[in-house]
Amino acid sequence: MALTGLKIQKYLPKTNCKECGSKTCLAFAMKLAAKKADLSECPYASDEAIQLLGAASEPPVKEIELGNEGTLKLGAETVFYRHEKTFVNQTAFAINIDDTRSAAEVQQTLDQINAYVLDRVGQELRIDMVAITQKSDSVEQFSALAQKAWESTGRPLVLKSGHPESLVAAAKSVAGSQSLLVAADSGSVEILKDAAIEHGHALAVTAPDLDELVKLTAELKQAGLNNLVLQFESHSLAEQFQLNSIARKAALKNNYKPLGYPTLFFVQGGDLLESGVTAITETCKYGGICVLPEFDPAQLVTLMTLRLNLYTDPQKPIQVEPGIYPVGDPKPDSPVFVTTNFSLTFFIISGEIENSGISAWLVVPECEGMSVLTSWAAGKFSGESVAKFAKEAGLEQQVTTRDIIIPGYVSQISGDLEEALPGWNVIVGPQESADIESFISNVLRGIVQN
Ligand code: SF4
Repeated sequence: MALTGLKIQKYLPKTNCKECGSKTCLAFAMKLAAKKADLSECPYASDEAIQLLGAASEPPVKEIELGNEGTLKLGAETVFYRHEKTFVNQTAFAINIDDTRSAAEVQQTLDQINAYVLDRVGQELRIDMVAITQKSDSVEQFSALAQKAWESTGRPLVLKSGHPESLVAAAKSVAGSQSLLVAADSGSVEILKDAAIEHGHALAVTAPDLDELVKLTAELKQAGLNNLVLQFESHSLAEQFQLNSIARKAALKNNYKPLGYPTLFFVQGGDLLESGVTAITETCKYGGICVLPEFDPAQLVTLMTLRLNLYTDPQKPIQVEPGIYPVGDPKPDSPVFVTTNFSLTFFIISGEIENSGISAWLVVPECEGMSVLTSWAAGKFSGESVAKFAKEAGLEQQVTTRDIIIPGYVSQISGDLEEALPGWNVIVGPQESADIESFISNVLRGIVQN
């Protein structure tokens, strides 16, 4: 049963020293009860408290580690919605390969998985896992493909087979990869449990209904295997959505441990729109691992971007360090643009400048990661603040040009900026980043020299 804040407080030192970041031990206890803090944040928690509260303060959805040295983490979520608290471990994407594919097709897909990198707001997004599905009748074929995928990509695997003996053989052939065996049901649970424990893998558990599933996870935990993933037997997207939501709700609201595990779902091939909608739903609504039927870069860019947006802190925009950034290979007399340090804005603006074929300097003052209009409205992007930053960053020593281009949306700061930066000519740029290229071709080339 979940402990209340008052009960938890009894086990804390009650010195109100504030080192945990809370004003009082009671405030910290309330956060612990709401799963919004970790007991390790109190350096004075006694061994008795750690023992008693440790289990109670565990995240309601268990964290599962996969991959060599546990580099891929799943679960550990504590809230339903990202505005409550930042989500913890993002949905992992896996690309499926059947073991009946030709050697050339297998190699091509593995190469595509290895080569795929989506560069987005300064982050390199990659494919997390490879799923190997047995469609052949051969234990060796399945096992050999698993080994090849692991050796070739170094990513943890989703090993799916209806034949327990194939999973046992594959589990052995990729020991050390901390992969996922799919899936144990009431008939195969014993043999797969032993294989998972012996070779250090996690185990997906499946059953025709939730009651059976709960029974299996409880038994496995009792038997010493708690690295579990839930695979529901759903027959439609609506049902899958419902089951994911039920499991998350049971874990979060009732601290119901038998359903407190990440989930696994295989998106079916065929209609691209349908598979795309399914994968998007899984990503938005509590999917732990989403297996995609094939390598499709168009689908991946959608899913990766969506996932990135979901799993960032809504109260703390992704931002770049303030500074003066070169775009291309700028010279001292190259144009100077100004924008905010919101990552999305920064990378879009620098990309558009690059696409125009010129080199330039991009001045990025501290704007707390807000976009142009938001930071201007918050008083973080004014003529004075931009001038102050430019002076402190040594812009006047770094460049010989005295033209500075500001975003069109904040044309109203041009007067203040000119006043605060004597000797500079302020040029109002376009409002939309998409117009930068034509602004450079049609307006800027007539004003400044590149
Ligand atoms: Fe209390 Fe520990 Fe927080 Fe200090 S660090 S206020 S003792 S909970």
